[in-house]
Amino acid sequence: MMKDGLQTMSKAQLYPLRFDPIYQYRLWGGRRLASLLSAPLPGDGPIGEAWMLSDRTDQQSLVANGPLKGQSLGQVMKQFPEQLMGKLSSRFTRFPLLLKLLDAHEMLSVQVHPSDDSSELIPAGDTAKTEAWVVIEAVKGSHIYVGLKSGTTAGSLHQSLDNGTIADHLVCIAPKPGDAVFIPAGTVHTLGNDVVVFEVQQNSDVTFRLYDWGRIDSETKESRPLQVDQAFACIEFGANNSGLVAARVETTTPVERERLFDCPAFLLWRLLGQNPFQVGATAEPRVLVCIGGSGQITHNGTPYAVSKGDIWLLPAETGECAFQPIREVTLLEIAIP
Ligand SMILES: [Zn+2]
Repeated sequence: MMKDGLQTMSKAQLYPLRFDPIYQYRLWGGRRLASLLSAPLPGDGPIGEAWMLSDRTDQQSLVANGPLKGQSLGQVMKQFPEQLMGKLSSRFTRFPLLLKLLDAHEMLSVQVHPSDDSSELIPAGDTAKTEAWVVIEAVKGSHIYVGLKSGTTAGSLHQSLDNGTIADHLVCIAPKPGDAVFIPAGTVHTLGNDVVVFEVQQNSDVTFRLYDWGRIDSETKESRPLQVDQAFACIEFGANNSGLVAARVETTTPVERERLFDCPAFLLWRLLGQNPFQVGATAEPRVLVCIGGSGQITHNGTPYAVSKGDIWLLPAETGECAFQPIREVTLLEIAIP
């Protein structure tokens, strides 16, 4: 059945693709993604991450709608490279971004990801990892740590690991919903105490844990491994390009369109509107994430209902599509530069 579907599809046009989340147990997670995703969570343990769009070999997002339902993102990339990726098709054989929701009930480990300058620390087939967060929920007492305070040296940071005072060396943000936080590769970072964020990152799984707050995983009864030497090797001491970023308003009608992130790995806008507006772009893919309200995408006369918590990939060949909010909608739109 699936095979016939794919063969029939190969000459047909692609269409807006919705994907199902992949839930991940994490000891620091919670149960708050259920309301955001408008769906019950599996089991009753802590769910820290929902991978919303993933083209990782071991964790493939599956199409949830239409003739390609059940196909993985990797299969669609392989079967429809030009139709999906447009002018980017020669640059990428796998989808270059990994998109997640994080529910950090407790603090995550203090961690860092390598930049291209530390290529010897990146396994073959993986990449550097710059990432960014859009805060969805936060409470009094939520924390985001991003970057080192000025004057922190490798020596003082090492010493702080021994005496448990690493937080004194990290720039601390008290997050509010709507905040945008940029974390270039090489930046020490963590977050927690009941904060929910949307995360955009390069499609990489390379994380070096510097410190885990002395915690024991209740599932394995062990502390999680640290990679202190590798972490130190990729920390950019003295960098000051991370942290809260100011939203830049690009348009106010027919939709309020703010650019939050613009870096070599991704672009991200927040769209807030009540009236019809355009989403997607000619000859390149775009991703839409609905973080508030609901609405409808129309492509080739076919409506696609968009609910809070949905993620949609608009293939390059669908180009611009009309978006009709139901009352008010808040979307994140993501592009690959
Ligand atoms: Zn990270």
